[in-house]
Amino acid sequence: MTSSPRRFHITTFGCQMNKADSERMAGILQDMGFTWSENPEDADLILYNTCTIRDNAEQKVYSYLGRQAKRKHEQPDLTLIVAGCVAQQEGEALLRRVPELDLVMGPQHANRLQDLLERVFQGRQVVATEPVHIMEDITQPRRDSAVTAWVNVIYGCNERCTYCVVPNVRGVEQSRPPESIRAEIEELGRQGYKEVTLLGQNIDAYGRDLPGATADGRHLHTLTDLLYFIHDVPGIERIRFATSHPRYFTERLIRACHELPKVCEHFHIPFQSGDNDLLKAMSRGYTHEKYRRIIDTVRRYMPDASISADAIVGFPGETEAQFENTLKLVEDIGFDQLNTAAYSPRPGTPAALWDNQLSEEVKRDRLQRLNHLVSVKAAERSQRYFGRVEEVLVEDQNPKDPTQVMGRTRGNRLTYFEGRLDELKGQQVLVKITEVRAFSLTGHALLPAAARG
Ligand code: SF4
Repeated sequence: MTSSPRRFHITTFGCQMNKADSERMAGILQDMGFTWSENPEDADLILYNTCTIRDNAEQKVYSYLGRQAKRKHEQPDLTLIVAGCVAQQEGEALLRRVPELDLVMGPQHANRLQDLLERVFQGRQVVATEPVHIMEDITQPRRDSAVTAWVNVIYGCNERCTYCVVPNVRGVEQSRPPESIRAEIEELGRQGYKEVTLLGQNIDAYGRDLPGATADGRHLHTLTDLLYFIHDVPGIERIRFATSHPRYFTERLIRACHELPKVCEHFHIPFQSGDNDLLKAMSRGYTHEKYRRIIDTVRRYMPDASISADAIVGFPGETEAQFENTLKLVEDIGFDQLNTAAYSPRPGTPAALWDNQLSEEVKRDRLQRLNHLVSVKAAERSQRYFGRVEEVLVEDQNPKDPTQVMGRTRGNRLTYFEGRLDELKGQQVLVKITEVRAFSLTGHALLPAAARG
């Protein structure tokens, strides 16, 4: 094993938190002198940052690993790492399954990659899955975008939704100190970033584990307090946050989002099911009536707000009538976007042991019917944009059409319009919407939002 493999490649599966962890691990590797290799076949160090939210997500990494394990027999100094939620879930078992692995590290250890790799370079196989307090890292993440940035604010989750593996693999809630979050966002503002997305599995729980007050005596023990605390950071024009939990989504938070101009009118609030008995079996801690009241309150303050959510079909014991309650909620609320999934039994979760599991056929049928309704409703919701002028923050080139750039509205709608990326990247542009699709828009630029005066 050579002392300093030079090039690295990270493949990321799963959620935004994994993407943020990968950006930080890439930053650590760069600090250690590695360089990014776009093609994993040219890399000397391969890291898979994995997801285990559903079985198919977990299975994905094994096919990749198989190929690299073979490669390692020809190239013994190749360093192979599995990070993220499958690593946490499987731990030592992963080494038995793939003996070619050098390092298996859980999400809580992302910031400790350098220490762990130094032990690997001493010739050891390392498994790091013990619960740890996640330390603040000074590393500069290697961010995928130069315009928008992920900012972790709370790690882990203390909820016990009966289908969810996250608490087992990401551990208990750990809120970052508000001063550290503000310092990171100030640095992003100095670097020219225009938008930040605050991240947490259950972001509305932010701060409840934080001791005492800030240095200047303020008690920033909620997400709402944090939004006020970071709102005036220079250079940052937009603030988003995800993922919310209906159990903790307060009117105080909604009012703050309405009052704070930089906070975008887009809310991601998973409801999972429209049936109260199922919500109880899922241990979600709210009813569909409470969920509807939250959405009504959001729309009372921000009538045009974008609402997205997650929903599970085929949860153990779900009857046709209970499934129809989910369809009814989707019909009534009209989501801008809904991430849907068929229930997948996960190791170590209560619901996986229940004997009223549904067949894959029933799950497939319900998923198809829900997805059909979702696209019909999203197309209906999208109609409201036709002919409107929207503020679009330009992020990148349209990969399908080099004459166009792409960005998002404040409502998080992907929007394409003609323009030069070198002129418009990072700019907020007023775009007249001329074409509407279920999940994206097309228009033409009027003028930079800043010129609106
Ligand atoms: S709130 Fe529930 S679904 Fe979300 S991460 Fe926590 S346990 Fe999982």
